[in-house]
Parts: sequence; structure tokens; C-alpha cells
Amino acid sequence: MKPTNATLAEYGTTIFEVMSRLARDHNAINLGQGFPEGNGPAPVVAAAAAALTTVSNQYPPMLGLPDLRQAVAAHDLRFYGLEVDWTTQTMVTSGATEALAAVLFALIEPGDEVVVIEPLYDSYLPIIRRAGGIPVSVRLAPPEWALPLDQLAAAFSAKTKLILYNTPMNPAAKVFTAAELGAIAALVQQFDTYAVCDEVYEHICFDGRPHLPLLAMPGMAERAIKIGSAGKTFSLTGWKVGYITAAAALIDRIARAHQYLVFTTPPNLQAAVAAGLNQGDDYYQGLTQEMQTKRDRLARGLERAGLGVLPAEGTYFLSIDVASTGFDGDDEAFCRYLTTDVGVAAIPVGAFYAGARPTGAFARFCFAKRDEILDEATTRIARRFGRA
Ligand code: PMP
Ligand code: GLN
Repeated sequence: MKPTNATLAEYGTTIFEVMSRLARDHNAINLGQGFPEGNGPAPVVAAAAAALTTVSNQYPPMLGLPDLRQAVAAHDLRFYGLEVDWTTQTMVTSGATEALAAVLFALIEPGDEVVVIEPLYDSYLPIIRRAGGIPVSVRLAPPEWALPLDQLAAAFSAKTKLILYNTPMNPAAKVFTAAELGAIAALVQQFDTYAVCDEVYEHICFDGRPHLPLLAMPGMAERAIKIGSAGKTFSLTGWKVGYITAAAALIDRIARAHQYLVFTTPPNLQAAVAAGLNQGDDYYQGLTQEMQTKRDRLARGLERAGLGVLPAEGTYFLSIDVASTGFDGDDEAFCRYLTTDVGVAAIPVGAFYAGARPTGAFARFCFAKRDEILDEATTRIARRFGRA
């Protein structure tokens, strides 16, 4: 048989699926793959159910239902002061994953360099490479995960087509600062590149930190592409509804990839996400507050057991330093052991790196779960690894 595509063949099953399967097989509490517990906000779910009978179930427009595109534009104005023409500067995708793929396929020519920041989300590299791009990595180091500005500048060259980054950042739980984003914007202009901004956790920033879209910064209107996800903003990860805001000329090109990847996204879910985005500020504040309380609960529990917990400025993830458990092995061995023998699944942070594993071993936990579940997970971990 002739070989299948070599680039994709190189990547195994994603770590999220691997750990979720292991968690199911061992009946472990799954704090690995990032998904919130529960069924999502009741009014949004009810809107999806109602839309099955009130909205057409046939192909919606390729760029998305007008209601949702208008809601995306209104959301961008309300939270970021972005003036967006919904008819040309927004589009709906099948999750942020498809948005990322459509954007990368639309922009990258074989041989283009793409600046990425490690640790990085797992779908980035296979798609960049499948599109013929050459990833150029800049590494952040725990516990601060500060952006090394000299290394960032060194990563850009005349061959750079775009930078792809994620804030708030999975799995580092870092929120990029205005200074870091300003440095990115300056390089994007200097090297005449694009910026693909994965902002799926835009409403999960803690301790009063603002979420700053690059798109709202000076000089970025024609260059930055903002990606959001209803999966994260409404705790509905199974729906796979994403949205993009960008200059009209870019949306036009991204749509050319989108139309051949999926063409469209289920219309009832689009209608419901429009209703979701149009909810009052209290919904968004509630989400941030709820996640912050859960972060504190899990962090306190793990710290009480004597474990080294890294700061979490945003997202619904926090990581521990495996060295603080006394476990003899790397992060992957630790996460497997934790799942099979301790009954709590986690994700090895080393899985978010392109090349050589980073120094140190860290395990990522998702805290978007009921308090009882977080407490039981903490109890199990403390029983096995507790030092306090
Ligand atoms: N980017 C990041 C950083 C994520 O954590 C996720 C989570 N799944 C995605 C993109 C994909 O989002 P979606 O489920 O909307 O495809
Ligand atoms: N974004 C989720 C995480 O980081 C997983 C998404 C997926 O499983 N594809 O855990």
C-alpha cells in the first residue's frame, strides 16, 4: 500500500483522547482533558432546543447565521470597543479548531515560517506543517511563563508569515500583558506579518486581569485575526461553535478554506450561541467568578497537601510541579500513574512542546468541575503524595 500523508501519520492520537480513555478504563476522576462538568447554561441550551423547530435545519449561509455574526460584532464592541462590520468582518466556524485550520490553510504558503510559543495547544503544529509552514518556536519557562522578548524578536525574519499565540494560555494559564502584546504588535508590523490570536478563554481571566485582544491594538486591524469559542465561553465544548473577527480581506480568504473544510456549522447551535453572546454582563462576570473560585479551591487543596502549584492567571487549568510530589519519573509517567493508581487523570505539560521536552515536569489539571469532585480529587492526591 502507498503511505498515507507522512506529516499527519507522525502524530499519534491526541493526549486529551489518550488520557480520557485511560480515565474511563480506570474509572478515574477526569481532570485531564479540558471540559467543564454539567450541561451548559440552561437558557442557551433551551435556545438550541427551540431553534430546532424555529430555525431552518438546512444549510445556513456559509459565513454563519446573521444573528450570530451580529452577536459576535456586538460582543467585540461591548468588551473591547472594536468597531466591526458584521457583514464582512465576522464568520462562524465549527469550533476554534476549525477556525485555526481555516486560518492557517488560508494564510500559509509552503516554506513560510510561523512563529509559535511553547507550550502550545496540540492542534497547531500538525496543521501548520500540513499547510507547508515551518514552525519557529519561542519557549516560555515556568513558573512566570514570561515572554522572552529578545528570543521573540530573533524568531521573526523576512520569511515569517504569521505568529500564532494563545491568551489566556493553555496549558500555562498565563495571561499576556499589554507590554508583551505591544512587543508582538511591533514585530508583526516590522516584519509585515499576520497574527493569529487564539482567544478561546477570553472570558476566563482572574484577579481582575483584563483580556486584551491584539486586534484592538494600534496598527493591528488589518493583521490580527481573533478566534473565540462558544465551547469555552458557554461551557459547551461538545457543540463546536467558534467565531472569527478580522479584516474583511482576511475573512474573504479564510472563508475560502472554511467552505471546503466544513462549509457550515449546525444552525440551531448558531442561533443559541447568538442568544448566549447577547446575555448581560452578569453572565460573563459569573463565569469568571465561578472559575476563579474553583481555581482557588483546587489550588488550596493541593497546596495544603504540600504540593507545588503554579500560578494560574486565566483558563480553567492549573499545573503542579511533579518534583514536589516526590514521584520518580517524567510528567507522562506521573500522569499515567496518577490516573491508573490514584484515580485522578491529568495532562502532562510536556505534551504541549514541539521538540525536546522542557526541563522540569508539570501536570495540568482542569478545575471546571463540581466542588465535590475537586475535593475528592485533592483527597486522593493528598493521600498518595501528601507531604504536609
Ligand atoms: N485553542 C485552545 C487553546 C484550546 O484550549 C481549545 C480547546 N479545546 C481550542 C483551541 C479548541 O476549541 P474548540 O473546542 O472550540 O474547537
Ligand atoms: N482544549 C482541551 C484541553 O486543552 C481539549 C480539547 C480536545 O480534546 N481536543 O484539554
